[in-house]
Amino acid sequence: MRQVQIKNTTETYSVGKIVCLGQNYLDHIRELGSKVPDRAVIFCKPSSSLLPDGGVIEIPEYTKDCHHELELALLIGKTGKQIQEKNALSYLAGYGVALDLTLRDIQSEQKSSGLPWEIAKGFDTSCPISSFTPAENISTPNNLQLKLNVNGEVRQDGNTNQMIRSVETIVAEISNFYTLEPGDIILTGTPAGVSRIKSGDHLEGTIEQVGSLQVSVA
Ligand code: MG
Repeated sequence: MRQVQIKNTTETYSVGKIVCLGQNYLDHIRELGSKVPDRAVIFCKPSSSLLPDGGVIEIPEYTKDCHHELELALLIGKTGKQIQEKNALSYLAGYGVALDLTLRDIQSEQKSSGLPWEIAKGFDTSCPISSFTPAENISTPNNLQLKLNVNGEVRQDGNTNQMIRSVETIVAEISNFYTLEPGDIILTGTPAGVSRIKSGDHLEGTIEQVGSLQVSVA
């Protein structure tokens, strides 16, 4: 799957790059024992990591600790570079519900060795994603409740108003590094409550006004 859809329409986008923001919620930074970064922490997932709503997560055999991270996803609708914050929302085509699945043990090993952590973040099925709600339907992207249930039990319960960087700041800042193009996706970071998932788990993520995402683990 390299296509994403705007909900209740036939409009689709071919996905380009998936740019992710790390460490954007204070309570998540604290739970990992990390420091608040001076600069945005940015990494990418390949488009081959996408998993559609209803899909099945395949945890790689080289990990013992795959974590869920529920995140608000932004779909870029037009090309932009060095976008100003005041114009940032006009570059968005839609908002979606995503998971940034993370192999925490591999990420920790890579971090402590001073090495890139892509192999902990970019594996196949590591980016479950919903269809996108049109951007014009979301008036307050920086005040949306996010919740993740695993097997019916609440694991993450946060609000985008807890983000260190707002949606506008994220789009502007990332566009200083990368030209943003239609079909690019941005993941905006996760609130506290990340934890291990295992074979047979059923995950349901919901974001107020935006929608929901349901996936299971093989
Ligand atoms: Mg994340």
